[in-house]
Amino acid sequence: MKRILIYIEQHHEQEGLDLLETARQIYQEEPYETYALVLKSQYDALKGIFDVIVDLSEECLQEYEMRAISEVCYQLHKSYHFDAILFPATSWGRLIAPRVAMMLDTGLVADVTDIAHGEHGLELIRPAYSGRIMASIQITGDGPMMLSVRPGVFSYTQHKKAATQIRIPQDLRYRTGGLKETGRKEKHSEYDIRESDVLISGGGGVERYFHELRPLAELLGGHVSASRAIVDKGVADRNVQVGQSGKTVNPRLYIALGINGALQHIEGLRNVDYIISVNTNKYAPICSLSDIVVEGDAYTFIHRLIDTIHKEKGYEGH
Ligand SMILES: Cc1cc2nc3c(=O)[nH]c(=O)nc-3n(C[C@H](O)[C@H](O)[C@H](O)COP(=O)(O)OP(=O)(O)OC[C@H]3O[C@@H](n4cnc5c(N)ncnc54)[C@H](O)[C@@H]3O)c2cc1C
Repeated sequence: MKRILIYIEQHHEQEGLDLLETARQIYQEEPYETYALVLKSQYDALKGIFDVIVDLSEECLQEYEMRAISEVCYQLHKSYHFDAILFPATSWGRLIAPRVAMMLDTGLVADVTDIAHGEHGLELIRPAYSGRIMASIQITGDGPMMLSVRPGVFSYTQHKKAATQIRIPQDLRYRTGGLKETGRKEKHSEYDIRESDVLISGGGGVERYFHELRPLAELLGGHVSASRAIVDKGVADRNVQVGQSGKTVNPRLYIALGINGALQHIEGLRNVDYIISVNTNKYAPICSLSDIVVEGDAYTFIHRLIDTIHKEKGYEGH
């Protein structure tokens, strides 16, 4: 029976849960046991889903204590001999995973965005060379397979019932790094584009009238997102950036207005049901991925669509 350790980061529990889908795609029909490593005891949502919860709440570890958490992962591996150790590629996950890999003297496939089973077996897919190519990586060593996985790419839906055991490890030895949290300022964002069913997304072609996207998004019950071209120019907030260095989204409808469709942008579009792109250049790369291409000016498109919706809803004065 394979054993998989999944790191559950505080405040990012869903990203940890989604790694169960990564595990399922790796091991498919092979029997495996899942171990959730949790720092705090609020893990009710994980009960009945993971086979084992390794509860570290008595250790009082904070998510930023990378060295201590790495040492704990190392010791747990020495006790349980995991076949795979999975981290979400969150800010902290990206820092802890390579430290654990070094301690275990094994490799790490970072920022995985897909899993494939080819003629040579398991292939882990990740962007390489700043996202210009997708690399397919095979694991040949004997160490535990270590991965960090891009959040939002896999999503856990299957609700397997497990008789979860809670284990509280004893005699763990680690050094905390002398860090102390003195305050926490939450970054307020009105919405999370990863949860939107409809995204109206603007790029370089709508830079001057990006603010016009919001009324359309509201009429369609969705939210506004953006490409990096206008985030870098300060027109849109980085929180709403779609793509390799932004967020991975999976809405039912994605309307790309004035977006060219660079590989790094497309990387953020996973499981999108329907893409409509509006572009003055019908040969822009995003057009070949779209279900509908509107060749023309995005500004005109927005206003015509708003007018049409208003007319259909019987609004007056438009
Ligand atoms: C390491 C790295 C990470 C990156 N990460 C990301 C990322 O996460 N997300 C991301 O988006 N990019 C990312 N990029 C940048 C990416 O390579 C592109 O530069 C960027 O996506 C371009 O954005 P764009 O298509 O909106 O703009 P442009 O390239 O400027 O394209 C504008 C498009 O609008 C069309 N257009 C112009 N005028 C109009 C009009 N009036 N109406 C309709 N269409 C019009 C044009 O034909 C063109 O297709 C990354 C790059 C690197 C190197």
